[in-house]
Amino acid sequence: MKEALLYEKLENNSVRCFLCNHNCQIKEGSSGICRVRKNIKGKLYSLIYGKPCALHIDPIEKKPFYHFFPGSFAFSLATFGCNFKCGFCQNWQISQEYSLKDIESQQEILPSEVVELALKNKCKSISYTYTEPTVFFEYALEIARLSKEKGLYNNFVTNGYMTKEALDMIKPYLDAANVDLKFFKENSYRKNCKANLEPVKESITYMRKLGIWVEVTTLVIPDENDSEEELTQLARFLAGVDKNIIWHVSKFHPDYQYLNYNVTSESTLRKAQDIGYKAGLNYVYVGNVWGWGNDTICHNCKKLLIKREYFSILEYNLKGNRCPYCNTVIPGLF
Ligand code: SF4
Repeated sequence: MKEALLYEKLENNSVRCFLCNHNCQIKEGSSGICRVRKNIKGKLYSLIYGKPCALHIDPIEKKPFYHFFPGSFAFSLATFGCNFKCGFCQNWQISQEYSLKDIESQQEILPSEVVELALKNKCKSISYTYTEPTVFFEYALEIARLSKEKGLYNNFVTNGYMTKEALDMIKPYLDAANVDLKFFKENSYRKNCKANLEPVKESITYMRKLGIWVEVTTLVIPDENDSEEELTQLARFLAGVDKNIIWHVSKFHPDYQYLNYNVTSESTLRKAQDIGYKAGLNYVYVGNVWGWGNDTICHNCKKLLIKREYFSILEYNLKGNRCPYCNTVIPGLF
């Protein structure tokens, strides 16, 4: 166990955690909404520091990041836990349905060992992913700090619910974030995730202000968030923050508690992509489909820059960060 960052002590041995926007007030002996931060005798502890439950080497496209060192590999890790309760979670076994025993049984891997593994496996970056990296913040922060010293990059795949204080703290080491913007209605966030929309919007805006590279993913769920009106509002919000934010609209597959929903149709995904472009975004990709919607086309001259198949790069035409045909700077890290 590691004493938590970003909390304050209150009366009667209670604490208030301000790592994420739930701002849990936690009595002695209890845990926060994420279940992995516990008040023990008036001090808040992370129960998952140094206890990853998943370690993989993934193509960066799988996160997905399409404008962050395309074709590179990310050393990817997660611990148990999440501060959301999404019924459609694709990693629910490790985000929701775990026990304290599961945490205790994980092998301890120190931050320096994670960095060594990433270097040994020739990864360009470390991805904090699969579950919500905010809830293992202390562990992620230390890995990110050490990895920067070794020339590695860091990225979060996140629900964007962390506080500004958390972002300020990790900013020197965090190069990029893929933020899930799951809905654009407050009541949908409440009903489906037991969270609120506004802090997610604020995080996206604040990350761009801090200079963190941002890509956004929306899992398009039939009858939940696939109306033209909602997708248009969402895309307009992103374009208003920065038209160079990359938007990934992804195909939904039934999972966890959402087994009675349909798979997203191809026509809905094409509609979402069109909506993104109409709203003014420069790059809109379609996730979980193959054969279309994944190539990078110069937003200025419309020539092919990167051809992708699954998570592989078949053709790569960028010269540094510029289009070789019209010399336009392509947004992202290349
Ligand atoms: S990180 Fe966990 S304990 Fe802290 S505010 Fe969020 S849900 Fe609550």
